[in-house]
Order: sequence, then C-alpha cells, then structure tokens
Amino acid sequence: MQERVLRSLEEIVGADRASADPQTLECYACDATVNPPARPDYAVIATTVEQIQAVLRLADAESIPVVPAVGMSSTGGLTIPVRGGIVLDLHLMNRIVEINEDVGYAVIEPGVTIGQIDAELKQRGYWVQVPAGPPGSAGLLPGYILHGYGHLGAKFGINSEQITGMEVVLPSGEIARLGACAVSPYWFHRTPLPDLVGLFLGWQGATGIVTKLGVNIYPRPPFKAMVGWGLFSDHGDPLPEPCARFLIKMQRADVAHDISGHSWGAVQIGRGRKWPLPPKPAEDPEIFFSATAYAFTEDELAFKTRTLEALIAEAKSGGLPIASTDVTDRAKTEMPTRYSLRYSDHRGGGGLDYIGSITPVIKWPQGVKRLTEVFERHRFTPYIRLSVYRGTVQGMLRALVPYHRSDSADVEAVGKMNREFVEVLLDCGGLIYKAPVFACEAMWRRGDPTFVALLKRTKQMLDPRGIMNPGRLGL
Ligand SMILES: Cc1cc2nc3c(=O)[nH]c(=O)nc-3n(C[C@H](O)[C@H](O)[C@H](O)COP(=O)(O)OP(=O)(O)OC[C@H]3O[C@@H](n4cnc5c(N)ncnc54)[C@H](O)[C@@H]3O)c2cc1C
Repeated sequence: MQERVLRSLEEIVGADRASADPQTLECYACDATVNPPARPDYAVIATTVEQIQAVLRLADAESIPVVPAVGMSSTGGLTIPVRGGIVLDLHLMNRIVEINEDVGYAVIEPGVTIGQIDAELKQRGYWVQVPAGPPGSAGLLPGYILHGYGHLGAKFGINSEQITGMEVVLPSGEIARLGACAVSPYWFHRTPLPDLVGLFLGWQGATGIVTKLGVNIYPRPPFKAMVGWGLFSDHGDPLPEPCARFLIKMQRADVAHDISGHSWGAVQIGRGRKWPLPPKPAEDPEIFFSATAYAFTEDELAFKTRTLEALIAEAKSGGLPIASTDVTDRAKTEMPTRYSLRYSDHRGGGGLDYIGSITPVIKWPQGVKRLTEVFERHRFTPYIRLSVYRGTVQGMLRALVPYHRSDSADVEAVGKMNREFVEVLLDCGGLIYKAPVFACEAMWRRGDPTFVALLKRTKQMLDPRGIMNPGRLGL
C-alpha cells in the first residue's frame, strides 16, 4: 500500500515533493521537546491549495492521518505524527496574498514567516503582532491559530484576537471561507456573521488546514522606549501579591504595548551566559520586568515614559521591593527577536521544552512560587516568563526548560516537571496553550464534561473519518 499511496502523492505534488525515504521522514519525527518521537509514513510538500485538497481527498479515501506543519517550532510536540501518516509541509506556501492599507489587514498563506511579514510591513510603515520568542523563520499563521503570545500583548491581547478571517480546506477536501471574506471581497473582520473561525483556532490542525489567514495590520509607530524594574523579593516568595497588583495597575494605565517579566535565570540566558548557571547571587533581583511603549511623536513617547516611571516610583515609595534596572540594550532590540537560539540551545544538546499558560495575573504570585519550587526540587534553574495581556488582565505564565536531548536523566526529569507544571498552572485557574496531549487530558479531567463532549462532536462533524492530526488534544 505504501508504494501505491506514494505514487498517488507524487502525482499530486510532483515526484520531488513527496517522500517515504526514512532519512527524510526522520526530520519530521520529533521537535525540541521531550514528547516521544514518531515517524510519519510520508512527507509531502504542498505548494497550492488544490494540492492540499487532493492530498486530503486521498487521505480521506485511504484513512491516512494528515498532520499540517510549517516551522515545527511549537514546542508542544504538536507536529509529531503520533499515529503516522502524512506530514503535510506547508512552508513553501509563503505568499503574502494581499496587504490592504485602507481597510487595515493582510492576507497570508501558511508558510509566511514572522520575519517575512514583519519586513514587508515595515517597508510600508505598518506592523503586526509577532510571537515574541521564536526565530524569524517560524510561521506566523500557526502561532495565530494556536492562540499564541505576541510582542504587543498588553495592547492587542492574544494573537488570535487579531484574526479577521480565514480560508480553510476541510478534511473532505472542500474549501470554506470564514469571517467577512465569506461574503465580502474584504477580509475586514470576523463579525457580524456567525463566527465559525473558532472551529479552527486552538485545534492544533485537528479540524482542517488553514490556507489563508486575514490579520489586522496597524501603522507602525517610529518611537520606542522601555522602562525596567527588578523585584528584590524573598526567594521563597519571588512575586509577592502587591507586585501582581502593581502589574494590573500598570496594564490599566494603558500606555504600554508590552509588560513582561523574566526570572533571574531567563535573564542570564538572554545576556548570553552559558550553562550551567551559578546560583542566583542574593543581591540580584528575583524577576526583571520591563514595560515597552511605542509612540508616533516624541511628545507622546515622553508622556508614556513619564507615566510608567511615575507608576514605578509610586509603587516603590509605597513599599514594593522594586528598583530600576538598566534596559538600554534590550530597548534597541527589534522583533522578531535575535535571541531565540540562546534559549533553545542554552543547555546544549538541542532540547527545549516549555509549558505555557494563560493565567489571571492575580494568581501569578502563587504560580511563580510553585513553579520555582518544582524547578528547584528537580535541580533545574527556574526559567519563568510572564507577559500581561490587555483586557481582563490575564497573561502568559510559562516555565521554560532547556535540556540535553541525549541525556536520559534530563529527558526523564523534564517529562516529570512538565506534568507538575501543568497541575500548578491549572491550580492557579490557568489554561495551557499549545498543550501537549497529556496537558489536554489534565484540562479535560477538570473541565465541564459537556464542553468536552461538544469538542468531540465538533471534531466528529468536521472530520468524520478522524484523519486530521489524530491523537492530538486528547479527544
Ligand atoms: C525559543 C522559542 C520561543 C517561542 N516563543 C513564542 C512566543 O513568544 N509566542 C508564541 O506564540 N509562540 C512561541 N514559540 C512557539 C512557536 O515558535 C510559534 O508559535 C510559531 O508561530 C509556530 O509556528 P510554526 O511554523 O513553527 O508552527 P508548527 O509547529 O509547524 O505548527 C504548529 C501547529 O499548528 C498546526 N498547523 C500548522 N499549519 C497549519 C495550518 N495551515 N492549518 C491548520 N493547522 C496548522 C500544526 O499541525 C501544529 O499543531 C516559541 C518557540 C521557540 C522555539
């Protein structure tokens, strides 16, 4: 059967874009995480929507799993084909289909990288929120449809809130347009029609393949400033509750585009310090925070900077254990970041895992404290990232673990820590994003059973033969 299916795939995409060669398949068998590798039976590189339709029709007829993939950098094992089948590599579908400056959106294909869209928009004086951490070669579309976190979260919220519409190939091979573009020639918003975009957001490719995505674009402000502050708190209580209340106050002042924190260990990696890190010196802050503001005029920037500095001064005089820190170097940093390799290969040996959550900021003190305990019990330096989102003042709280892929003790420890991180974050009322299967299962165990049943029914309705990324989402 494998030979016959391979011939059919070659007929669809061309002989040089379909492979069942073990060496080629190995490249698609794992990611940087400890999630167990699994080799696909075929790797296929599609370049057109029609090819995707034909591949899905073939997969449907033959009951073969299909896993869409672009940069395979999602650090949740999300493109590992747990049940084999076809990895459908979309990285060559990298056209920016439209940039509509008058209405304010761009339409992109799945392979458009965050570096590519940022460079194109920059030339035109526009920007779009991009994921803050990955290299410029990661895809923008996967990060958006997975509800990822971007570098302007305090202003714009979660990436998926910026989605204005999509084109999707259903498992049956049919094409659907969702959002305003379903009726109008313009991809301006998901409303006012019934919003079906959610059927493909957060689903990890388990309901269909998004072939075009509309995203908001905004005029790009030319001026930028950062203010920073360090928390000199008790190591046993790295983020005291008044400090979380201060972050909430700063977000509500509505002048910063980004409010983020890095634990001491994460900052050392960013500064290029090599593994292993020494214990944190007592005189260093536990967590370094920064608030980034952008502005269209120097006056506006001066006002925003003054406002942020005044908030810090007020908090300090009110007794918060904070002090200003120098962010001069980071202030020069542009997105996409140049530092992702420092994080992804800090330990050496190519391993990077993380468990990320969206958690109410008010629960961060409990979360940071317990995540730190988990790291230290397993003798790992705590690497914790926090970012405040606009709106209901929730945010990204993430535990990041560089590890050595060929060190079995490391792999085992990271696997155990990940499970503990998940329970800690769920205890704080958080939700895991880009969740590996075990994390989905942990959420569903605590979840509303009717919600979980509805998820299963939705999957069954869209993908009756279960070919799309089967085994994902713990459904
Ligand atoms: C060091 C580092 C830092 C990171 N920092 C961030 C960060 O700050 N914010 C953030 O959001 N992410 C971050 N990430 C995760 C990731 O890099 C981004 O989310 C990125 O946008 C994912 O793109 P990708 O091309 O690698 O997606 P992939 O890993 O290839 O795909 C991700 C998922 O989407 C599915 N998928 C892919 N294409 C489609 C499609 N066309 N239709 C349907 N499903 C599809 C896949 O099956 C998979 O489930 C980081 C990763 C690393 C390594």
